[in-house]
Amino acid sequence: MTTPSPTELIVRNGRVIDPSQNIDRACDVLVRQGRIVAVGDNLPAPASDARIVDATGCVVAPGFIDLHCHLREPGKEYAETIESGGRAAAAGGFTSVLSMPNTRPVNDNAAVTRFIIETARKLSPVNVFPVGAITEGSKGEQLAPFAEMQEAGAVALTDDGLPVMDAGLMRHAMSYAAGLGLTVIDHAEDLNLTGTGQMHEGYTAVRLGLAGISGASEEIMVGRNILLAAATGAHYHVAHLSTAGALEMVREAKRRGLNVTCEVTPHHFSLIDEDVKDYDTNYKMKPPLRSRADREALLAGFADGTVDAIGTDHAPHAGSEKMQEFAQAPFGIIGLETALGLALDRLVQTGRITLGRLVELMAVNPARIAGLDKTGRGTLKPGSVADITIFDPERNWTYDVNQTFSRSKNSPFHGTSMRGGPVATIVAGNLVWNVERKSSV
Ligand SMILES: [Zn+2]
Repeated sequence: MTTPSPTELIVRNGRVIDPSQNIDRACDVLVRQGRIVAVGDNLPAPASDARIVDATGCVVAPGFIDLHCHLREPGKEYAETIESGGRAAAAGGFTSVLSMPNTRPVNDNAAVTRFIIETARKLSPVNVFPVGAITEGSKGEQLAPFAEMQEAGAVALTDDGLPVMDAGLMRHAMSYAAGLGLTVIDHAEDLNLTGTGQMHEGYTAVRLGLAGISGASEEIMVGRNILLAAATGAHYHVAHLSTAGALEMVREAKRRGLNVTCEVTPHHFSLIDEDVKDYDTNYKMKPPLRSRADREALLAGFADGTVDAIGTDHAPHAGSEKMQEFAQAPFGIIGLETALGLALDRLVQTGRITLGRLVELMAVNPARIAGLDKTGRGTLKPGSVADITIFDPERNWTYDVNQTFSRSKNSPFHGTSMRGGPVATIVAGNLVWNVERKSSV
């Protein structure tokens, strides 16, 4: 995928922000053979064939990691492939993504896990870390072979797209996962409470005549899973947390010292249920866009440290699938290319969080949650993998979904202007995307 790289690369003149080492200052980053060699001033002169990346005016950070994306391969390659999703990730400033197992077939065994890893190695410009299913076929009946998938390269477990409805089975899953050191990610939704719900339960749903999905549908499962995490010692990670009530339970669990973390998507901190207008299916996702009060709570959670990570929940669907009546259209939107811009525009530019906190949310914490810190990611420490995200917090740009690298265009952010966005993406010392070239190299 990537062109043979020079043995050395140096990123000059950027503002290096690496919370893992308490670094926030103007300096250079030297890379040799895919690893970070040094971060500092007056670095030894690089080799004559070294690639020089000028990061003037930009932030240089440990590579961003998306804990939650759907690459649709194997099985739904018309909507996304590991290659197209990988390119969209690179263009969004991500150096690594975790791919959810709800493919066809489901990633519930070592063969599928290996297929994803091998395909990504050949075709994706970014690292793809597969997440294995909790249950066979994600049917919620029998546990999948965790150890075998872990051995093949799976970094966490989830039945995302669906919850694990059976509490007894989830308890077994957490016990088993805890022994293996694998994080259990749950799509927290009580399907009986959701019923035929299409969007957040509230005034807007009533006005549009759409069935509602209550906050309780999410909260009851987050509460259950926290109790099971306490009973088993498992690391429970809440996928796409969306309500004030769920956030409060996570805050309380952390206060009790439980190993509970959570992610929030860019659409949940940017939009609310009132934004669902004209039955536009690009505003239909699970969990649904919540109330103004829920969003305000999420923003407070970003500021006070309760929210651990930003996860995109990039969920490509073909135009033909989304161009149906609201009630028939599938849930989900793409998000890899807009996540960083929205985070800068809605969280940093508004003064809710600092740039250092943003790097924690997009690199340091995701690495820890997925165990990728053990592989030298989420940091720019000498010796770690040279995965680097370079972004300009001031660059004004407008998202044009027609230019997307994704095979799908289901985004509510087409035409949205943002202050701040990605500039260059370096994976293992290779420049795989930069904003001028607008393509992977
Ligand atoms: Zn989900």
